[in-house]
Amino acid sequence: MAADSHTSPFVLPDLPYAPDAFGAVISARTFSFHHGKHHKTYVDNANALAEKAGLGSASVVEIVRRAKADAALTPLFNNAAQSWNHSFYWNSLSPNQQRPEGELAKQITQSFGGWDKFAQQLTDAAVGRFASGWAWLVAEPNGALAITTTMNADTPIADAKQKPLLTIDVWEHAYYLDHQNLRKAYVEAVVNNHLNWTFAAQNLESGG
Ligand code: MN
Repeated sequence: MAADSHTSPFVLPDLPYAPDAFGAVISARTFSFHHGKHHKTYVDNANALAEKAGLGSASVVEIVRRAKADAALTPLFNNAAQSWNHSFYWNSLSPNQQRPEGELAKQITQSFGGWDKFAQQLTDAAVGRFASGWAWLVAEPNGALAITTTMNADTPIADAKQKPLLTIDVWEHAYYLDHQNLRKAYVEAVVNNHLNWTFAAQNLESGG
């Protein structure tokens, strides 16, 4: 690739909604730090570390997987995975309440026994994730839906098994300005009123 056509693998995306669209649940102040500072820093660090590792032309997913497999590349893994996780998280949120529809609604019922049980299980997983990390709705290789959590920067895309459909960031920086220590208040509001089921359905249908 010619030097003048080189683009960095990691990009800070625009938020897909206005930063004040979530009211007091996730404030504009939280988005200003979380997107404008935390995510931006992960993106900048990931690009610099990828370049240093000779992976400046690789895809984001390839960088995440190669860095996970090499203990010497742990700092790259942490910043690369956090870059991907945050882009996925912004899209996992919806300002307006949605519920799963069609095939996805059917699969939620099959895998969890209905919306209420699903919502409780996801809330419990997100609240119970000790320290920093992420709660995920994923599709297993056999097609069943499942809830899982990852620690710190870890992400289901690091191995090619589970396909992520939605995520909730449960690092303190995601909720502390708005809810202080009350992670459960943040998680319950997101699970019940602010998950983007259109995005989840797109991910379920995608081949990747
Ligand atoms: Mn975060």
